[in-house]
Amino acid sequence: MKVCVLTLGCKMNEVESASLMRGLEERGHETTDELGRADLYLINTCAVTAEAERKSRQAVARVRKFNPSAPVVVLGCAAERDGEHFLGKDGVTLVLGAQNKGMALDLLEEKGLFRAEEREFSELPAPKRTRTRAFLRIQDGCNRFCSYCVIPYLRGRSRSRSAESILREAETCGAKEIVLTGVDVSSYRDGDLDLGGLLLKLSRLPARVRLGSLEEGIVTEPFLERMKEAGNVVPHFHLSLQSGSTDVLKAMNRRYTREEFLACCGKIYEYFPSAAITTDIIVGFPTETEEDFLQSLSIVKEAGFSRVHCFPYSARPGTAAAKRRDLPPCVKKERMGRLIAAAREAERNYLNAFLGREAVALFEADGGYTENYLRVYAAGAREGMLARVKLIRPEKDGAFAEIVEETE
Ligand code: SF4
Repeated sequence: MKVCVLTLGCKMNEVESASLMRGLEERGHETTDELGRADLYLINTCAVTAEAERKSRQAVARVRKFNPSAPVVVLGCAAERDGEHFLGKDGVTLVLGAQNKGMALDLLEEKGLFRAEEREFSELPAPKRTRTRAFLRIQDGCNRFCSYCVIPYLRGRSRSRSAESILREAETCGAKEIVLTGVDVSSYRDGDLDLGGLLLKLSRLPARVRLGSLEEGIVTEPFLERMKEAGNVVPHFHLSLQSGSTDVLKAMNRRYTREEFLACCGKIYEYFPSAAITTDIIVGFPTETEEDFLQSLSIVKEAGFSRVHCFPYSARPGTAAAKRRDLPPCVKKERMGRLIAAAREAERNYLNAFLGREAVALFEADGGYTENYLRVYAAGAREGMLARVKLIRPEKDGAFAEIVEETE
């Protein structure tokens, strides 16, 4: 049977889809992630923004054109949030939520409906694509309840995968870079073992380790010490900021101030002077005044971000922030334009500081990434190559580089 697995949204969804594809193949099915004719469609949806949810609904409608009689299974956050919307429409035969993906394959075989509360970490098969970079799920769910976010309601409370299971997959995946992913990686805990302890356990791997999205509170001196001690953790920190204004952060139920966030960036640069700090910023939260927005604009430069993902605020039904009056779309659009320009400038500044310098890059099919997450393109690079490179000039979304020597 040919199964088409379509994925929308975040890295977690991508990893989980890759796991499902591997599990399907182990059960003898052919899989593809490209939209086309198939005997069964699995659509892994996203609900993080209204736009993501709209695209999820569109994807369901689109697959019907390729095979109107094939069953369609919808899973993921949009399905968890509003399963009723999908069920019975556009040939949807099964709706699974975000919390029971580990049981999806068994359920597919049974062809029954299921929607259960899951409390344990849900093990999935190792993802399908692991040659160069392997994305390892180490955690799921979130306890933080930021006022704009539906994820804790959809994915449930935080739970972690056992270190033993993580090590088993990490040691056998054969990848040269392992990316630790989760909804809230910072809250990782297996008994007494926290994220820093896990990094030390992973230090024996012949692979470099990259951390997924982190929360500011994890950046303490003991944690940074352990990163250094591990020796194979790359200096890339994706720290979700969301706003540069302390007042807005408070309304968002984020647990830090602007000053605390900046202090945390300073601490990172102290330990890792060439660290890349990437971030997410929401534009146009309902309480955001022009003054608040200017604080978001100025922190982009002040924090020295190497990349900023900007999103216009969209109310997610059921969240505390959704009860507040939304800002006019034209205000959000205008602020988005200014923030994107500031983000591009910060990205250019960060890149320029590394031109003429050497770095170690791991190449994929189309370009590679340095340890500090600069995108590089080099003549003669091939997928899976780990090489010392010299960054020459800006190119596309990163830099053109010369290969100095292949390292292994
Ligand atoms: S930390 Fe906040 S934004 Fe991130 S998943 Fe949890 S509740 Fe949502």
